[in-house]
Amino acid sequence: MNSPTVQPRILLFTAKLGYQTRAFDAAAKKLGVDLVFVTDRCHQLDDPWHDRAVPVRFEAPEEATYSVMQAQAGQPVDGVLALGDRPTLAAAYVARGLGIRHNHPASVEACRSKLRMREVFRDAGLPTPWFRSVALQAIPEPALMGITYPCVLKPISLSASQGVVRVNNREEFLAGASRLKRLLDSAEIQATREPNLDRMIVEEYLPGTEVAVEGLLKDGELRVLAIFDKPDPLEGPYFEETIYITPSRLPAREQELIKKSFTDATRALGLAHGPVHGEFRLNERGVWPIEVAARPIGGLCARALRFQLENEPEPIGLEELLLRHALDLPGWDAPREATASGVLMIPVPQSGILEKVEGAEDARRVPGVTELEITARWHDYIAAWPEGSSYLGFLFARGETQAMVENALRAGHEKLNFKLTPRLPVEHPVTGKV
Ligand code: ADP
Repeated sequence: MNSPTVQPRILLFTAKLGYQTRAFDAAAKKLGVDLVFVTDRCHQLDDPWHDRAVPVRFEAPEEATYSVMQAQAGQPVDGVLALGDRPTLAAAYVARGLGIRHNHPASVEACRSKLRMREVFRDAGLPTPWFRSVALQAIPEPALMGITYPCVLKPISLSASQGVVRVNNREEFLAGASRLKRLLDSAEIQATREPNLDRMIVEEYLPGTEVAVEGLLKDGELRVLAIFDKPDPLEGPYFEETIYITPSRLPAREQELIKKSFTDATRALGLAHGPVHGEFRLNERGVWPIEVAARPIGGLCARALRFQLENEPEPIGLEELLLRHALDLPGWDAPREATASGVLMIPVPQSGILEKVEGAEDARRVPGVTELEITARWHDYIAAWPEGSSYLGFLFARGETQAMVENALRAGHEKLNFKLTPRLPVEHPVTGKV
């Protein structure tokens, strides 16, 4: 009698259930992998995941480890992956508990704190802007001593540039700090239970061009999957993303310096295994790591990346590549496809309730545009940066050259018109405050 074949099992930690989890599900089916979701959104689960998801609280990683180990009840687990920033620490704890190759929780913790990351980079001798942790309790007058302008105010543990503000003088500093305090005190942010919501990091503003880099670590060795140029200037005062295009148009020498900086940064953090995503600024003083996250590129943007396996006609997505990597299957080191590819994260022009989107079909018809996905929900309020952290949607393009991709994204964006109506101020029934 044949022994039953055991399906490899991967735990996928995710706060969001949507496109990327579906893409992982499809890739897992193709590879014959049993994918188990670990999430704090169990109430949002619909079939086919319902009976297979493990509910956890990401802000309590030790408790999450216990829950997952209980739920697995001794069944073998072959790999652990985390999507988005919030679940990364719980994933690292669980992997450690189960004895699975992954990053050490202390390394992941350093990635989750913009302050700790700066300390690690500075101590490792990497180019680091001056930085300082400042309490947001009182008006931070004394903290202004010795500050030089321009500088950047940032929450310590949020992501997606939420709350990040450039300030050019003392008045802007004080206004920016109280705006950041309001954001961090809001019910929505408090509900995340992130640590350090009463502090900010203040650091030197680094001028220069910015790139995003996607990488994959295997036993401490970094493989760069793609360098994305960001052709729109990111000079503030707020820093929502717009266009990402790969392959990079930077000279080969600069690309090598970026790869070296990414390698140095992951080593300094002690990251060893799995997907990593980094942001870097380049100027005449060198390559500056802005941040490194122990996770793949966010949600829909992953669609801009496809990889070409040998002897397979169709390229595979990042999700399949990551499953192959987690299971040590051949193909985890497949190169990116040859065409240029890009994504526009559709910016939010002003905060408001999304009433209408015009021009979607025209945008889809622009030569080179491959896909448009409006992710903001009708009649929902969407906040512009710095309070915001979600885009209106994502526009994708492919082409022979980066210029063709960039033109297609810009032409597609021009066709789109979003009608956002301001939310009416609501008076608090007791305090009378709006
Ligand atoms: P998040 O994790 O919220 O994305 P980051 O620290 O990566 O926070 O900052 C978000 C963006 O803000 C960066 O991609 C960059 O464009 C800008 N930024 C952050 N720090 C600096 C800095 N010191 N100088 C210039 N720009 C910065």
